[in-house]
Amino acid sequence: MARIDLKVPFSEKDEAKSLGARWDPSLKTWYIPEGVDIAPLAQWLPVTEHADLEHGPEFCVRAPYYYVMESVSDCWGCSNLTRVFSFKLPEQHEEFDYYEDEDEDFALTSNLGEWKCHGYRGTVSNIASLSPLVTKQIHHFTNKFKQAYSKTVGSRYLMNHCENCGAKLGDFFMHSEPGGAFFPTSPQEAQRMTLIRINERFDANCSVGFASEDFFDWMQVREEP
Ligand SMILES: [Zn+2]
Repeated sequence: MARIDLKVPFSEKDEAKSLGARWDPSLKTWYIPEGVDIAPLAQWLPVTEHADLEHGPEFCVRAPYYYVMESVSDCWGCSNLTRVFSFKLPEQHEEFDYYEDEDEDFALTSNLGEWKCHGYRGTVSNIASLSPLVTKQIHHFTNKFKQAYSKTVGSRYLMNHCENCGAKLGDFFMHSEPGGAFFPTSPQEAQRMTLIRINERFDANCSVGFASEDFFDWMQVREEP
């Protein structure tokens, strides 16, 4: 677990220090080092103020740049191989986290929250909507990435379709099954994937999947065409 920053008033710094907090002179903040018990220091954990929260945005996932990710999948319809697409987001990507108050009534009606960065690379799936800018980019690569209804999910999302027969290729098998088009389990499987870096904003309503080993270094990375 990474360290946790604290908000310690100057007058309480000696007490915090005696309970295990340490001072980071470069960031000018007290923090809980790894391995130190959080409980005695919990009174100084930063509290999110209502005033700091924003209203829910149009798109709940954003990144300063991204990669169009191309891979290959078997088609269940015609048994041929087809190109399939998704997106890879850099560590800087952020997800909008709706605020949940302990008061349940508030949580039910709240449209407030804050942007959170988890600091890991993510693979995008179950895309309900994409910004016009990102839509334009993906259309440079394929016209087979389009809205379709998924019985598995019970809703519509932007789905790959076979380039040979037009069959729907749902996200579940490609993203959630080990060895699927977007779930490499070895360097060899990652090598069939190409990432094209797009130096534009990414905005979407989607899920962002995390893998502890995503074999990123074996994927072929290209700059924007
Ligand atoms: Zn097919």
